[in-house]
Amino acid sequence: MVLLFSMPILRPQLFSKKLCDVSPEKCQIAETLNKSPQFTKGRVEFWVRYDFEGALVDILYPSEVFISPSYLEHPYLDVVLAHELGHIEYGVLSSSESDADRFAVKLRGKDRVLAAMSMDGISEKRKNAVKNMKE
Ligand SMILES: [Zn+2]
Repeated sequence: MVLLFSMPILRPQLFSKKLCDVSPEKCQIAETLNKSPQFTKGRVEFWVRYDFEGALVDILYPSEVFISPSYLEHPYLDVVLAHELGHIEYGVLSSSESDADRFAVKLRGKDRVLAAMSMDGISEKRKNAVKNMKE
């Protein structure tokens, strides 16, 4: 039983489908971001994960991004994915939210990152940090 309960954590891919199989259009957004010259960590696999809400990089799979079906519909999906790529770029364990936000600003611009943040109930402190970033 313990094994069954721990499986979603150890193998999140079992609860996921490849983004490119779910939505070729959104896959294109992800692949374009992946190929940005600012991103130096190589090919990333993007998954739509059905057993959670949100977007994350799992420490066990540091070159894979998991996104829930609801987040796939996010109007600023590009910013969400750029943020997750920032966690990969700066290290899954070592990157802060601020590092990932900074990377999203690099890829998508400050205005777009702030617009995305205003939809997600992000703290004022984190928004102000983005406002003060250099583009
Ligand atoms: Zn983050």
